[in-house]
Amino acid sequence: MELGEIVSLDETYVAHTYKRYPIAFTGGKGATLFGADGKEYIDFGAGIAVNTFGANDEEWKNAVKAQLDKIQHVSNYYYSEPTVRLAQLLCGRTGAKKVFFGNSGAEANECAFKAARKYSYEKYGEGRNRIVSLKESFHGRTLFTLTATGQDGFHKYFGPFADGVDYAAPDLADVKRVCGKTACAVVIECVQGESGVNALDKSFVRALAGWCAEEDVLLICDEVQCGNGRTGKLYAYEHYGISPDLVTTAKGLAGGLPIGACLFFEKTENALTYGDHGSTFGGNPLACAAGVNVLTRLNEEFLLEVRGKSEYLRAKLKKIDGVKEVTGLGFMIGLKVEGDPKEVAARCLGKGLLVLTAHDKVRLLPPLVIKKDEMDEGLAIIREVLQ
Ligand SMILES: *Cc1c(COP(=O)(O)O)cnc(C)c1O
Repeated sequence: MELGEIVSLDETYVAHTYKRYPIAFTGGKGATLFGADGKEYIDFGAGIAVNTFGANDEEWKNAVKAQLDKIQHVSNYYYSEPTVRLAQLLCGRTGAKKVFFGNSGAEANECAFKAARKYSYEKYGEGRNRIVSLKESFHGRTLFTLTATGQDGFHKYFGPFADGVDYAAPDLADVKRVCGKTACAVVIECVQGESGVNALDKSFVRALAGWCAEEDVLLICDEVQCGNGRTGKLYAYEHYGISPDLVTTAKGLAGGLPIGACLFFEKTENALTYGDHGSTFGGNPLACAAGVNVLTRLNEEFLLEVRGKSEYLRAKLKKIDGVKEVTGLGFMIGLKVEGDPKEVAARCLGKGLLVLTAHDKVRLLPPLVIKKDEMDEGLAIIREVLQ
C-alpha cells in the first residue's frame, strides 16, 4: 500500500486520537527502521520504550515463534508455562513475591491501586483508601489511572472523576500533609516520563520510602516507562535504594507485544486473591514468552552496556549547541532545546531521525541494543537541526 492510501484510510476509519507524523514503516533492524518512502531512519523512540531490542531481533523473534508454534492463548482457567517462567524471573530479579499479568501500563496500575485499597481495608477497615499521586505524574488513560495522573491537561472533558485520589508536590512535607490519615498508598514514577523526563530527587524518594514504611502507607513504583533496563538498572527504583511494596511495569517488558505486570512484594503478596481481579488476555503465553526472552537477556552485563552507551550519548548531547539541558536517567533522556520540541522532532524526522517529545522536552528512548554508529548518526542529525 502506498503511504497516501494508508493515510487516507486512517483518516477515514481510525479514530482521530493521535496526531501522526506522515510516515509508515515497512520493517527495520535494531535501531534502524525502513520507511515506506524508501528511506532509512535512526530510531531514538523504540515505539515509546517498547521495542527493547529494536526491530526484527532474531533471538526475540525465535522465542515468540517457538511459542506461536505451540499455542497462542489459553484462558486463566488453566496453567501456562511461559507465564510462570516470566513470573519466576520477575520475582527472582526483584525480590517480589507474586506477579499479576495484564496487557498495558494502565491495567498494571489499576491492579496496584486495587491491591493497595484491599490491603488497607483488611488491616484498617473502611475510610483509609485514598491514593496519593505526584503533581506532573502520568499513570495511564483509563478513567481511574487518568484520575491518578497529576496533570490538569489530561483532565479536561472527562469528569466526573473517581473520588479517592489526591495530588502532592514531590516534597515529603507536602506528601505527609496530603496523605493525612486516609491514604493507603503513594504512587511515584522514579523518572517522570510524559511530563518531561524528570528523575525524582534521591533524598526525597528515600525519605518518602522511609515515611511510607513507618506509616504503613504502601509505596507504588510505576515503572511502566522507566523499567525493564531503560535507565541502566532493571528497574529505576534500584538507583534509589528503596524497596517498594508494589511495582507496575509494561512498555518494554515483552519487547514489542502487549503486556503489563503488577509485582507484589512482602506486604502485598496476598492482598488480591481468588475472584478479586482478572484479565482475559493477562498472562498471554505469547507475550510472556517474549517477556522471558527480554528479562533473560537484561542481565548485569547487558545493563552495564546500557549504562556505558547511555553515558556516551548523554555526554555528546550535552556538548551540542542548542541543547540547554539533558535530563532523565540512562536511555530515558529529556532534552531542553531552543525552540518548540515538537518542531524539532518534525525536523529530525525530515532528516531521518525518530525522536519523541514530552511536555517541554525532546524525549529520547532508543532501543537498548542501539549501536555506536547509529547513535552517532542520530547525534549528527540533532546537531544539524539545532544549528
Ligand atoms: C505509558 C505509561 C502508562 C500507561 O501505559 P499504557 O500501556 O499506555 O496503558 C502508565 N504509566 C507510565 C509511567 C507510562 O509511561
